[in-house]
Amino acid sequence: MRQPPTNISMLQVSNLSKDYGSVEVLRDVSFSFTEGVSVAITGPSGSGKSTLLHIIGTLEKPTNGQVAINDTDPFVLSEPELAQYRNSVIGFVFQDNHLLPQYSVLENVLVPTFAFKQQPDATERAHELLNRVGLTDRISHRPGELSGGERQRVAIARALINQPNILLCDEPTGNLDTATTETIANLLFELHQAEKNILIVVTHNLTFASRFQQHLQLADGTCRVDSDS
Ligand code: ADP
Ligand code: MG
Repeated sequence: MRQPPTNISMLQVSNLSKDYGSVEVLRDVSFSFTEGVSVAITGPSGSGKSTLLHIIGTLEKPTNGQVAINDTDPFVLSEPELAQYRNSVIGFVFQDNHLLPQYSVLENVLVPTFAFKQQPDATERAHELLNRVGLTDRISHRPGELSGGERQRVAIARALINQPNILLCDEPTGNLDTATTETIANLLFELHQAEKNILIVVTHNLTFASRFQQHLQLADGTCRVDSDS
């Protein structure tokens, strides 16, 4: 009999709700995605896009419901276990890059590897990722010496350094002009092809959103998932 595939990343969100006091942000949200898929999340401002991304990324807890990545519920882990889990399973790219200004480009990309004791090939991978995002000649620069698009490319390399199962991007092109948005979008899809993770991107840009395999639309606390096939 054929065995089920192993080592396939899977994200399952089941009956998820999130309230902030009396404010109900997400209501009974369910979906599941497997390795290799690309997902756009759209919805009006305040519809819970960042909240959903933060819960998937284990930065916030749901009020009800479950998140499971490869059958592990991260919210039952202890704090140190959760930190280790987040660092190895999740990559996060924010709208305003969150780079450390006092560190060089190379050091910024290496920050998520500091939590792991034995990573002899981390520097090699950082160089490889910086080459793939086109910043080989900028590795010694500080973030303040780069353009907005270049800083986002560093943030993307940093998010991928530990080979996460899921790459979450919250409006990664929100502060960028149209041409730079397209460069960053192309880069994200190119790296997604190579890394085969689950790519989830919140964006207001409908041209960008139309390039994803799945489209999750949030409105009034609930979500609708459309597939391109
Ligand atoms: P989006 O990213 O779609 O613009 P958010 O997820 O940031 O939306 O926010 C959804 C709703 O939840 C908003 O009404 C916002 O004010 C509220 N909210 C988000 N975070 C908090 C918080 N920490 N405390 C209270 N309310 C919050
Ligand atoms: Mg948001």
